[in-house]
Amino acid sequence: MHRDPDADALGSSLGWASYLIKKGHDVTVISPTEYTANLRWLSGSEHVLVYEKQTDQVKCKNKISQATLICCLDFSALSRLKDLGKIVEEAPAPKLMVDHHLEPEHFAKWMVWDTYAAATAQLIYKLIKELEGNSPVTEIFDIPMAECLYAGIMTDTGSFRHGNVTPEVHLAVADLMLTGFDSSRVHRLIYDNAPLSRLQFLGYVLSQKLVVLPQYRTAYMVLTEAELQKFNSSSGETEGIVNYGLQVENVVMSAMFIERKGEVKISFRSVGTFSVRDLASTYFNGGGHKNASGGRSEQSVNETVATFLNILPGYQQELLNVD
Ligand code: 5GP
Ligand code: MN
Repeated sequence: MHRDPDADALGSSLGWASYLIKKGHDVTVISPTEYTANLRWLSGSEHVLVYEKQTDQVKCKNKISQATLICCLDFSALSRLKDLGKIVEEAPAPKLMVDHHLEPEHFAKWMVWDTYAAATAQLIYKLIKELEGNSPVTEIFDIPMAECLYAGIMTDTGSFRHGNVTPEVHLAVADLMLTGFDSSRVHRLIYDNAPLSRLQFLGYVLSQKLVVLPQYRTAYMVLTEAELQKFNSSSGETEGIVNYGLQVENVVMSAMFIERKGEVKISFRSVGTFSVRDLASTYFNGGGHKNASGGRSEQSVNETVATFLNILPGYQQELLNVD
């Protein structure tokens, strides 16, 4: 899965792993970096190896170099693996990519790739069903597997609100729900499970850091390393905050700049026809989806924001045209 894994990266990987384990395979799930605390309940997460952890590093390298198959889930550019990218690239095993991001690299022997899919978890659901010859879903999926896949679909669709929600999404979820898991509990565990500090931090960001530029229908927030330290914020506490910018009336693009570990991590969100992916890939070494992208910059946070403000006039007409 990709670095800083979200519920789709982790949920699709764990769902797929648990299917392969049921089929008798020896499976290791590896994440390049730590994942957030609200995902620790996902079944199988306790066995995930985290490459950035000193204690797991050698194990990860060995597993990858000795693997007979490497499954790459929820990413299609090896740079999304951080330092692990080179190790995966050099590993002799063939690769299977399952992903829904635009413009994939071609490092995989097999690609289950569909940008129309709302989540990688949805592709895993479909792939498993096809492999099982469409047997009854309750025979194929058990509750922990269904919860993992549901978590990925739920979060990548913004709880079934985004433009990526299709009839196929609801049909997949309806099938998974036949296993009998408690979908409301999954929602609660992911979204209503934050330490008080996250809400206080959110209050600070919304009251002090949110800037709205009505002429560009854009909202943005900038967080410096010092501010993050003041709130003792872990990476999980900034996750999702960028979305709040889109709740402001008339705003169609929201950006968040976070200074962390000597680089600036940028998140972009948009609605409708305006694509943040082009902006992220052209100016900020990133990419992603049309309405949810990210990137990073090695310039200072002030220079990065200045670049962003400078490019906005070029997008003004497009931003004003969003329905
Ligand atoms: P987030 O803002 O939640 O970190 O990322 C939103 C989406 O943007 C992710 O699902 C992913 O598709 C994409 N993304 C985030 N960071 C990067 C990056 O550094 N490079 C690329 N290519 N895509 C990114
Ligand atoms: Mn995804």
